[in-house]
Amino acid sequence: MYGLMMNSPLLISDLLRYASVYHHDTELVTRSLEGPIHRYTYADAHLRSKKLSQALQRLGIGQGDRVATVAWNTYRHFELYFGISGMGAICHTINPRLFTEQLTYIVNHAEDRLIFLDPTFVPLLEAVADRLPTVEAFVVMTDRQHMPETALTNALCYEDLIGAEDGDYQWPELEEATASSLCYTSGTTGNPKGVLYSHRSTVLHSYGVCMVDTLAISARDSFLPVVPMFHANAWGVPYAAALCGCKLVMPGARLDGAGVYEMLHDEQVTQTAGVPTVWLMLLDYMRKEGKTLPALEKVIIGGSAAPRSMIEAFQNDHGIEVLHAWGMTETSPLGSVGSLKRKHDALPQKQKVDLQLKQGRGLAAVQMRIIDEDGKVLPHDGKAFGELQVKGPWVVREYYKQEGGEILDEEGWFSTGDVSTLDPDGFMQITDRSKDVIKSGGEWISSIDLENEVVAHPKVAEAAVIGLPHPKWTERPLLVVVAAEGEKATKEELLGFLRGRVAKWWLPDDVAFVDELPHTATGKISKLTLRTQFADYQLPEGAAPASPKES
Ligand code: AMP
Repeated sequence: MYGLMMNSPLLISDLLRYASVYHHDTELVTRSLEGPIHRYTYADAHLRSKKLSQALQRLGIGQGDRVATVAWNTYRHFELYFGISGMGAICHTINPRLFTEQLTYIVNHAEDRLIFLDPTFVPLLEAVADRLPTVEAFVVMTDRQHMPETALTNALCYEDLIGAEDGDYQWPELEEATASSLCYTSGTTGNPKGVLYSHRSTVLHSYGVCMVDTLAISARDSFLPVVPMFHANAWGVPYAAALCGCKLVMPGARLDGAGVYEMLHDEQVTQTAGVPTVWLMLLDYMRKEGKTLPALEKVIIGGSAAPRSMIEAFQNDHGIEVLHAWGMTETSPLGSVGSLKRKHDALPQKQKVDLQLKQGRGLAAVQMRIIDEDGKVLPHDGKAFGELQVKGPWVVREYYKQEGGEILDEEGWFSTGDVSTLDPDGFMQITDRSKDVIKSGGEWISSIDLENEVVAHPKVAEAAVIGLPHPKWTERPLLVVVAAEGEKATKEELLGFLRGRVAKWWLPDDVAFVDELPHTATGKISKLTLRTQFADYQLPEGAAPASPKES
C-alpha cells in the first residue's frame, strides 16, 4: 500500500522558485570578471535563469543534453546551475585547472553541445576547440562591451543571448530522477570518470547541507563559497543557498588572501567554505596586515585534512569557529561534518580540537562503515582503521556511461578509497588515501597525521609525507617540506619537533626541502607526482628504528 501524500518531484528549479518568492530581495553579490562588484537579488537571478532556459531552447538544447561550463564563482554561473538543469538539460561543470588532454577527453566523453566560459578561459578553449567535435557554440559569459577578440568559431555573447528573451517561461515538471548535473572526478589513475547527479539527489543533499548539525545555513546568513563551482558543485552551496535564501557572495577569479578577505569583510560574510590552501593564504594575509573579521562566525574546511594549527589559528586568534567536513565528488559531495555534541562542551580545549581534527559524523542519509583488506567489517572504536565505505541517496551508483563497470559491492556499498577510523559516536577520521598510506613493517603509518603535526612548525609552509621503498620495512616515510617565506628549517629541527608528537617508528627517515609541492587540479597535494619525483631518492641507511613497533 502506498502513502496518500502528493508525489511532488524534488526539483532544482523549485529551490530557486522558492528563493525568488520568499527571499526576493536578498542579494547575490559577485566580484565580476569585468571588475566591479555586481549585486542583484534572487528575484533577478530567477528571471535571468528562466531567460537562459528559453535561450537554450532557442539554440536547440533539449532534455538530457549536456551543456558545459568553464567558469569561476559568479552570478552568471549561478544562473547556469539553475537555467540548464531547470529545463531538463545537464549542467556539466569543468575544472579549468585540468590538463588540456583531460579537458578534451571530458568534453568529448560528455558530448557537450555548448560550452559557457568566462573570458579568462577563452585562450584555454581556443587551444583545444578543433578537437571538440560535439561542441556547436561557445558562449562567453560577459556583455557585448567586454566580448574579447577570439578565434573561437561560433562564439556567442551571454548577455546578448539572454537579453533576447522575456523570461515568460515555466520550468517543466520533470521526474525527480532526471539527471541534472555532471562532474568528472580528477581520477589519479585512468581517465576521469563522470558523476551524474539527479534532481532528487541534489535537492536531498541541499536539505542535508542546511541542517543545523551540518552547516546550519539560514536566511540570516551571508555565505561565501571559496570552493569553486567547477569542483563538486561548490560543495552544493549554490543550491543550499537558494533553499534557505541566504545572501550568496561569489569571489569571481580572485582567490588570494587579500581578495577573499575583502569580500568576507565588505559583505559581512557569516559563513565561508573552502580547502586548506585558501585558508593558509587568508590567515597569512590577516596576520601580516593585522586584520580581523568580526562578522565571520564559521569557516568550513574540507577537501583535504584541516591541520590543528589552522583550526587553532581561526578559533584562538580570530574567534571564528571551524567546521571540518569530508566528502568527495561521488558523494555530492558532503558526507560528514564535525559538529560537536552538547556532551563535548565540557571537554578541555585541546580535546575539543582533537575531535575537530576528525572529519566528523556521517550526515543522516549517509551510512558509513570501515572494512579490512579481506572485506571484514571493523569496529567503531576509534582505533581500528580500514577502507571507508558509504551508502546513501546522494552517493554515486555507477559512473557516467558505466566507466569502471560495477562500482558497488554485493551489499550496495561504495568504496571511497579513503582509509579511516570511526569512533563510538560515529566521528570518522581519515588517516590516508588507501594509495598513500605508508606500510612499514606490517603496520600502517598515516601520512596525514605526520603532515598535520609538522605544519604546526612555524618554519613550515606546506608539507607532504610519502612512503619510499625500504629493503627491510617495505616502506619508510620521507617528509617533503616547503619552508615558510624567508625561513630556513633543518632536518634535525623538524624531526626534533615531531619527536614526542608521533610514535618513534613513525618519524620520517629523511626530510627533503623543495620550493613547491605539486598540486592536483582540485588543489590537493599530488602524492602520485611527488612519488614519481622522488622515485630514485635514497633514504639514509640506519635511519629507520630497529623495530617499527618501537615507540
Ligand atoms: P574530490 O572528489 O576531488 O572532492 O576528492 C575527494 C577526496 O578528497 C576524498 O576521497 C578524500 O581523500 C579527500 N578529502 C576530502 N575532504 C577531506 C578532509 N576533510 N580530510 C581529508 N581528506 C579529505
